[in-house]
Amino acid sequence: MTEPRSPAPRQTTIRQALADMLRHGEHSARDLSRLVGIAEKEVAGHLAHLGKSLPAHGERLLVTSAECLACGYAFPSRTRLTRPSRCPQCHGTHLAEPRFRLSTTRRPAD
Ligand SMILES: [Zn+2]
Repeated sequence: MTEPRSPAPRQTTIRQALADMLRHGEHSARDLSRLVGIAEKEVAGHLAHLGKSLPAHGERLLVTSAECLACGYAFPSRTRLTRPSRCPQCHGTHLAEPRFRLSTTRRPAD
């Protein structure tokens, strides 16, 4: 018997590739877009999907929030997956991008 193929194999492949990158270290959306070969604006949607689907597999998406490199303003760590363009405090545009990685949530057996 053959398993039916996923209706969207490419989407799944992209998410698997993203998850693999994030298991190996922290990456910004820009890094990920280059590594996986999709537009940076598409990365946020895939990350949001991963953030929802990963907990079922004992993993979660960790977000390091963006920071202003000029004045040190730290962007609120509400789950913002897209890159802010400007610092609300000093209006500088030299910002450290938010970075993402995966962490296992599996706890050792009791
Ligand atoms: Zn600033």
